[in-house]
Amino acid sequence: MAPVDYLTDVSLPVATYERTHRCAVCGRTSSDREEVESELPPVTLCPGHSAQYRSDWLMLGWCNGHYAEALKRCPVHNCVVEPL
Ligand SMILES: [Zn+2]
Ligand SMILES: [Zn+2]
Repeated sequence: MAPVDYLTDVSLPVATYERTHRCAVCGRTSSDREEVESELPPVTLCPGHSAQYRSDWLMLGWCNGHYAEALKRCPVHNCVVEPL
């Protein structure tokens, strides 16, 4: 089964859908998306975290169905996020 980005509700109309994109790290609304080097869908990041990700300052991980900063504890699932 393909992983699902639960932070992105694809059932919403396009305008709302775009507004609901949130940075995987800080939760700020953003329309910036970064491709990741894996089978996973593009990740939404705010401009600040997007720049950090591109300059390798930020490591992303995959929690239970969503992106998060790797090696930090997910506040939703209360688990340490595995790096990609
Ligand atoms: Zn951010
Ligand atoms: Zn989580």
